Amino acid sequence: MSKVAVVTGGTRGIGEAISKALKDEGYTVAANYAGNDDAAKAFTDATGIKAYKWSVADYDACAAGVRQIEEELGPVAVLVNNAGITRDAMFHKMTPQQWREVIDTNLTGLFNMTHAVWGGMRDRKFGRIVNISSVNGQKGQAGQANYSAAKAGDIGFTRALAQEGARANITVNAIAPGYIGTEMVRAIDEKVLNERIIPQIPVGRLGEPEEIARAVVFLASDGAGFVTGSTLSANGGQFFS
Ligand code: NDP
Repeated sequence: MSKVAVVTGGTRGIGEAISKALKDEGYTVAANYAGNDDAAKAFTDATGIKAYKWSVADYDACAAGVRQIEEELGPVAVLVNNAGITRDAMFHKMTPQQWREVIDTNLTGLFNMTHAVWGGMRDRKFGRIVNISSVNGQKGQAGQANYSAAKAGDIGFTRALAQEGARANITVNAIAPGYIGTEMVRAIDEKVLNERIIPQIPVGRLGEPEEIARAVVFLASDGAGFVTGSTLSANGGQFFS
C-alpha cells in the first residue's frame, strides 16, 4: 500500500510542485490549502490529488483535517509543513496583526500540524516531517522581522523535534529555499526583483519550485533515515549557513 503524504499549502507554488513530485514517487498525497478554492479546484482537476481546506493556524481544524485524511486515505507517513504567508513591513510600521498572522501560519502552523500526526507516527515507529523554512529565517531580512522570526523558529523546532523523534524512526528536517519563482516572489516589485534581488543570487536566476520538491522527495524517502535535524539550504549560493 502506498504511503500517505500531507502537504500543507499543497495546491499552489512550491507546495504544488511538492505534491506532484510525491505523487510521482508513488505516495498517496493529500494537499491542504487555506481559501483559494479556484486554485485548489484547478490543481485537483489537473493532478487528481484531493485538496483539503483548513487553516494551519487553527489547532482544532488541523486535528480534524488530519483525522479526515486518515479515515479516507490511511495513516500519515509524511508531513510537509509548507504553508506560509508574508505580511512585510519595516518594523516601525509593522502592526501587531501583521506579526501575529505570520507567526500563526508560519510557526504555530507547524506545531498544530505536527501535533496532529506525531502520536500516530510514534505508535507506528515511522515518520518523515519536512518543514519549509527560508533563507530569510537563516540570515534575517529587513522588512520581514515577523517572517524571519517565524522561519528561524521553524529551524529550532526542527532541531528539537528531530531529537524527540529519533528513537521512533521519525526524521524531522527543514529546507531553507532562497528566492523561488512563485506568486509570493512575483508579488515583489519587478524592478526590485531584477535590480536588487536576482543580482545577489550567484546562479543568476530564481529557483524553480521543482528544485525544492526534489529535495523534499529525498528527505521523505526511506533511505534518508540517518538525516535528521538538518536544514538543507537551496538558494542558488546566496547564503551559506
Ligand atoms: P504561495 O503563496 O505560492 O502558496 C502558499 C500556499 O500556502 C497556498 O496553497 C496557500 O493556500 C497556502 N496557505 C497560506 N496560508 C495558509 C494557511 N493558514 N493554512 C493552510 N494553507 C495556507 O507560497 P510559496 O509557494 O511561494 O511558498 C511556500 C512556502 O515556501 C512558504 O512557507 C514560504 O514561506 C516558503 N518560501 C518561499 C520562498 C519563495 O521564494 N517563494 C522562499 C523561501 C521560503 P491558498 O491557495 O488557499 O491561499
